[in-house]
Amino acid sequence: MYHRIAEPLNDPCRVCVSPHHFSEQLKVLKQHCRLLPLQQIVEAAQAGESLERTVGITFDDGYADNLFTAKPLLEEHNVPATMFISTGNWQHNQEFWWDTLDRIFLQPGNLPETLCIEIAGDFYRWSLGDVVQYSEADFERDRRWTIYAPSNADPTIRHSIYRSLSRLFFPLPEQERQSLLTQLVNWASISSTGRLTHRSLSPEEVRQLGEGNLIDIGAHTVHHPQLATLSTTLQQQEIQQSKVDLETLLGRSVNSFAYPYGNYNTQTVDLVRATNFAYACSTNASKVGHKSDCYQLPRVEVQNLDGEAFARWLIQWL
Ligand SMILES: [Zn+2]
Repeated sequence: MYHRIAEPLNDPCRVCVSPHHFSEQLKVLKQHCRLLPLQQIVEAAQAGESLERTVGITFDDGYADNLFTAKPLLEEHNVPATMFISTGNWQHNQEFWWDTLDRIFLQPGNLPETLCIEIAGDFYRWSLGDVVQYSEADFERDRRWTIYAPSNADPTIRHSIYRSLSRLFFPLPEQERQSLLTQLVNWASISSTGRLTHRSLSPEEVRQLGEGNLIDIGAHTVHHPQLATLSTTLQQQEIQQSKVDLETLLGRSVNSFAYPYGNYNTQTVDLVRATNFAYACSTNASKVGHKSDCYQLPRVEVQNLDGEAFARWLIQWL
């Protein structure tokens, strides 16, 4: 499972693999594995055929680099992939909320001394102290930080706020999250427009992404929510609408789905099945086998490793 093929200066959620590393990883995969479209892997699993050394590549979210960087490399190596697209950002060139939090807190610039904010009925107050001003040099020093580092090693209070807000934002309903983001953008006096380097694909670009026979387009909800936290009605809307959006755009059926953040419950699985998806991907780190539920296909996240390190990691899974 990949998200972005890009090399931004910082990657706090660790979702990027550099183009150079991705190219090396594809070479390693071709050397060691049989690379099949997800659909064929599901069919082989259901037919009880061997899946030894068989790998399917997926991408989640629908970042613009999936078309401009990942697709050309997949074509160069003739490797198929399924790309799961969230359709909520595509009309507005917006960033995902975690990227907006990065832009507010982790990029160089000045912020007000104090942040007071109400989230889901609770009040939070942070004082920025000596990182009200955050210079290019500060950013350069801290830019390799990720949210997966131990929290007691956060380099500044900005990183701790980013960590806390990420945790608080995950389960929020979309409207509430958007309203808080607007408050934060105003508080920080920065543009409400996201960065082009972090934008999602436009509808026309999603159409281009699906051209040719290597890339299959799958659905990934509209607003990228934690589905299990939503009411049945809202879950149904998120699942169904992303399918309708993509099918209307592409003029063909969209059969695959991926649960945002790998978050779902039994009701979610039932809804995905009832919405006529043929299979769905989780983020449970495991291998697909004959007993795999095709609505909870396991996946492993690929890190930004060079070819050698990736080969060592891959061998453990094969
Ligand atoms: Zn996602």
